[in-house]
Amino acid sequence: MNVFFLEYFLLTVTCFVLMDQGKSSRSCGLRSFPCVLCQKRTKPGERRYVCGDAYNSFRKYLFKNFMIKVKETDVSCSRCRNKYYRSNQASSNTVSDDVVYQPPAKKAKQDLCSPKHISLPLQSVKGPSHSSCCICKRRGHKFVVVPSCIRNNVFIEKNVIVPAGSRCCPGHIDGDLLKDDAMTQISDLKSECQFNRTDIFNLLQQVRTIALKNQNKRIDFDSDSFISDADYYNLLGLSRGSFDDICSHITDIRNTKNRSLRTCIGIYLTKLRSGMSNRLLSTVFNIGIDSIKRSIWSARKALAKEFTSNYIGFEHITRKAVVEKHTTDLAKTLFGGPTDPVILIIDGTYIYIQKSTQFSFQRRSFQHAQKEAISKTNDDSHINRILCQCIRSIFQ
Ligand SMILES: [Zn+2]
Ligand SMILES: [Zn+2]
Repeated sequence: MNVFFLEYFLLTVTCFVLMDQGKSSRSCGLRSFPCVLCQKRTKPGERRYVCGDAYNSFRKYLFKNFMIKVKETDVSCSRCRNKYYRSNQASSNTVSDDVVYQPPAKKAKQDLCSPKHISLPLQSVKGPSHSSCCICKRRGHKFVVVPSCIRNNVFIEKNVIVPAGSRCCPGHIDGDLLKDDAMTQISDLKSECQFNRTDIFNLLQQVRTIALKNQNKRIDFDSDSFISDADYYNLLGLSRGSFDDICSHITDIRNTKNRSLRTCIGIYLTKLRSGMSNRLLSTVFNIGIDSIKRSIWSARKALAKEFTSNYIGFEHITRKAVVEKHTTDLAKTLFGGPTDPVILIIDGTYIYIQKSTQFSFQRRSFQHAQKEAISKTNDDSHINRILCQCIRSIFQ
């Protein structure tokens, strides 16, 4: 009986103690400002009353996620607020991403290639190698992959296969073409080439495309077989060798798909020789009239900059060179003295002019004595005087 009484007493006391603790914790809670969400005591600096308008969305968040209805006296800690901001930001990001986000295109699975079983008696460059140039065989690491248009071009011109993925020095490539010296450097070839079905199919397709493109070409200065030596002279007034020489000086014209550097210079020289209108040139060369205009403009600019200035005009030669290389001993004895002067003999009676295509002007300008189209000046002495003054100012 005593034991029961003792137990009852202890239980009652425990209950009272617990009730008292509860009371004290409640009274302490009001003073310690617990966070409405995590119930932890908030520090004065980070404590915010969340009943204001600024916290509307935070209150909604609390109600939606934790079923907490905020009272006027409730505060929140900075940790819970930051948690809310972060979740809010993450959700807004995913929403905006959904609008713009596009899944990355999956890498197309490589087509299964059939093994290279077909052996054809075609010469081929060894390779492909990453560490050496397939043309000059130099070893290094700054190489570029040979573009397919150049590989096709090498096949058509030299009947040599350059395997896909072969690399060469960037210096061998000029636009969409391989430079002439690089073309001659191709050596050390395999006598057989292995193909698979896809390789042969691609080769046929590419050759067909080139054949279709070339059927529209009429005059092509790029291929040696297209125009004969006589045609070169008839069109340009120059032999093939002289034309090659002029082209080798020019670097300022870009090779494009429609017209190469040689075509550009060829069009310009044809225009100079024949005096054809741009419209007529566009028909002859099968190039658009705008392209013809641009070709002529760029050829004229490039020739004036890189060719003419080296051979014509007073700038192309120095006074010293005239005295040392272009003065005869006779002239030195007759006119020279201790000062080593520049001796020039000038005859300004006639001025050579380009033969015109216009018949009446041709008749007027043709001089029977000289058998050439020249214009006779009315006042020889005047022209001579002007020339002498010009030259004296330059060479003295
Ligand atoms: Zn909190
Ligand atoms: Zn090379």
